[in-house]
Amino acid sequence: MDAVLKQALASLASSPVLWDCPLCDYTSFAIGGPATALIVVQEQAELQRLLLFLGEHKIQWRIIGRGTNLLVSDAGFDGVILLLGKGFGAIVRGDAAKSAGVVIQAGAACSLARLGGWFVDQGLSGLEFMTGIPGTIGGAVIMNAGAWGRELADVIVSVTVVTPSGQVRTLPRSELKFGYRIWHDHKHVEEDTEATRVLIGVELQGAMADQEQIRSLCQSYHQKRQTKQPKGVPNAGSFFKNPQGDAAGRLIEASGLKGLRVGGAMVSPVHANFLVNSGGATAANVLELMEKVRVKVQADSGIVLEPEVHFL
Ligand SMILES: Cc1cc2nc3c(=O)[nH]c(=O)nc-3n(C[C@H](O)[C@H](O)[C@H](O)COP(=O)(O)OP(=O)(O)OC[C@H]3O[C@@H](n4cnc5c(N)ncnc54)[C@H](O)[C@@H]3O)c2cc1C
Repeated sequence: MDAVLKQALASLASSPVLWDCPLCDYTSFAIGGPATALIVVQEQAELQRLLLFLGEHKIQWRIIGRGTNLLVSDAGFDGVILLLGKGFGAIVRGDAAKSAGVVIQAGAACSLARLGGWFVDQGLSGLEFMTGIPGTIGGAVIMNAGAWGRELADVIVSVTVVTPSGQVRTLPRSELKFGYRIWHDHKHVEEDTEATRVLIGVELQGAMADQEQIRSLCQSYHQKRQTKQPKGVPNAGSFFKNPQGDAAGRLIEASGLKGLRVGGAMVSPVHANFLVNSGGATAANVLELMEKVRVKVQADSGIVLEPEVHFL
């Protein structure tokens, strides 16, 4: 990006642009080279301005949440990373008349931990299954995150997005297509080009329930995670999607791959579907390890594992 564009971009952002920003600091894998620029966007009008500018100047961009489901390349990202700031983190009890239960509006930057805690404090049931999933509610909608047989799509009432041309749209659940760990239509098709919509808010369905029961369910999910998942090593959660009727972790373990290493990347000895950064891993290490796992599992079981983690 030339100096004139850099200056123009900086003038549109409400907070200082972070140039040559190391993305390893913004991912739970602690892996990734620098982005040309990273901007923490604080409000809707600023986001609209920035999207228009980036589109007009054909500058590549990508929006990320807390980077808990991302593998960023060692070369980094030749473009602008947008991250929603505190201005997109509000939680509001919405219009109860819209449905039988209670509707909650959450800004996309709200962390799942804060949102889950808020549900418990309010005596609201509906999000217990998300206990312990890191990241933002925005990232969770894009991923259709879930656990224990439930997924976020079950409790979504609507989403609000900003299109690449800066238009704000609220889409009801009936117009949204979700699949296993994917929101299918989060891309925006306009004049033959396809770009990501920025999710800025979501409405969720909750139901009033006994607060102690909600708390105890959350605690039991928390406990299960503590015993089943690796602790204290950077990772991005389950690396592969579970194939229909089976578990990626079971297949990888059955192939004897627990503990397999490439450089600093390792198949977790605790849970085989977690590829962890055991120290100094590069994205290239993780990708090579991923390929080794896929090849061996396919040879042993005939099943081709698909990554759940997104690549940047
Ligand atoms: C220890 C651990 C455990 C995990 N357990 C689970 C689990 O049980 N179940 C599960 O489903 N996931 C799990 N995950 C994965 C991850 O936490 C979830 O997918 C989470 O919802 C991602 O949120 P994020 O904010 O970190 O998104 P990111 O990783 O930052 O982004 C994910 C994708 O969404 C896009 N995106 C993010 N925000 C926006 C936005 N506002 N608008 C448009 N696009 C956006 C990004 O470009 C990217 O493609 C786990 C991860 C870890 C590290």
